[in-house]
Amino acid sequence: MSIRQLPDTLVNQIAAGEVIERPASVVKELVENALDAGARRVDIDLEEGGVRLVRVRDDGLGIPPDELPLAVSRHATSKIASLDDLEMVATLGFRGEALPSIASVSRFALSSRRVGAEHGATLQVDGGRVGDVTPRAHPQGTTVEVRDLFYNVPARRKFLRAERTELGHIEEWLRSLALARPEVELRVSHNGKPSRRYRGGGEERLDFDDGAARLVETLGEAFAGATLRVEHATTARPAGDDGRDGAPALRLHGWIAQPTYSRASADQQYLYVNGRAVRDRSVAHAVKQAYADVLFHGRQPAYVLFLELDAARVDVNVHPAKHEVRFRDARMVHDFVYRALHEALSATRAGNAPLVAA
Ligand code: ADP
Ligand code: MG
Repeated sequence: MSIRQLPDTLVNQIAAGEVIERPASVVKELVENALDAGARRVDIDLEEGGVRLVRVRDDGLGIPPDELPLAVSRHATSKIASLDDLEMVATLGFRGEALPSIASVSRFALSSRRVGAEHGATLQVDGGRVGDVTPRAHPQGTTVEVRDLFYNVPARRKFLRAERTELGHIEEWLRSLALARPEVELRVSHNGKPSRRYRGGGEERLDFDDGAARLVETLGEAFAGATLRVEHATTARPAGDDGRDGAPALRLHGWIAQPTYSRASADQQYLYVNGRAVRDRSVAHAVKQAYADVLFHGRQPAYVLFLELDAARVDVNVHPAKHEVRFRDARMVHDFVYRALHEALSATRAGNAPLVAA
C-alpha cells in the first residue's frame, strides 16, 4: 500500500479511541467544557446509561455562530494560542480534540448563544459529516447533544456495558467534578427522571461553603463525619525557581479520613492538581506512607485532596485524556504531601475535628 493522508473523519475517529472510551468520557469532556466556559449551572440529561443520549446544557459564555464549525474541527481551541500558554494553562481543556472526536462517533448537535448576542445557532454533525450552521433560539450558553455513541464504530460499541454500569461510570466522574467545583450546580436526569442534584453556591450557602457541603453531598455523612482537615503550604522552592511574589510554592488542602474510616478499595480517593482530577503515583505513594502506621494492612484510606502549585511546574499534557500529570520536582511534591498528611494524622487528638459529628 502506498502512503496516503487519512481523511479528517477517520483521523478524528482514531483520536476518539484515545479520548472517548464510553459515555462517561463524553460527560467528562462536555462538563469540563461547560466549566471552562464559566457555567454556574450545568444540566446533564442521559438516556440508557448515556449510550442513547448525553445532553449537556450550560449557562456559560457560549459560542458565536461563525465559530461553531471551528469548535468541531480538530486542534481548534480558544484556550491556548502558544507554547507559553500551554505551560501556564488554567483551563481543563486545551487540546481541541474532544468535540471533533465525539462528533465523529455519534449523532452530534452543538447549539449555543454567545453572551450579549441576540441570536443563537446550531450545527449538526453526523458520524463526522459536518452540516451547516442554522439559526436557532437558545438561551445564553451552550447545549451539546450526543446520540447513539459509537453507532458507526461497531468494534467500540461492543465494549459498552449494561446501562447501570455505564451510568455508574458517569456518576463517578460527576462526583469527581462536583467535588472540585462546589460553586457550580449540577443536575442530572436519567431516562427522563431527575437522578442527582448537586446544589451550587446559592446565597444561603455562601457564608459557609468552602466545599464542605459538597463533600457531604458527594461522599456522604459517614465520610464527612470521619474527616480531618488538611491545610498545608510551603514557600520553599527548588533552587533557581523564583516563583510569583508571595505565592506558596506548594499548597495542599482538603480532607482525609481518619484511620477508623478506611475502605476495602481505593474508591474514595480524589486527587486534584490545580483543579484537575488526576492519578499520580508519587502522591499516592506519599499518602500510603503517611497512613502506613495507622491503617490495617490491605485497607485503603479515603481522601479528597487539592494540590496547588505554579502551572509552570507541572506538565498537564502527558495523556490525551489528561488523567495524569508530570511534576517537575516529583520528589519535592512527594515529601510535601507526606509531611502534610503525617501532620494532619498526628493532630487527630489535637482538635482537628470532623466536619459532621459522627
Ligand atoms: P478544548 O476544550 O480542548 O479547547 P474541545 O474540542 O473540547 O477542545 O472544544 C473546542 C472549543 O469549543 C473550545 O476551545 C471552546 O472554545 C468551544 N466550546 C466547547 N464547548 C463549549 C461550551 N460548553 N461553552 C463554550 N464554548 C465551548
Ligand atoms: Mg474540551
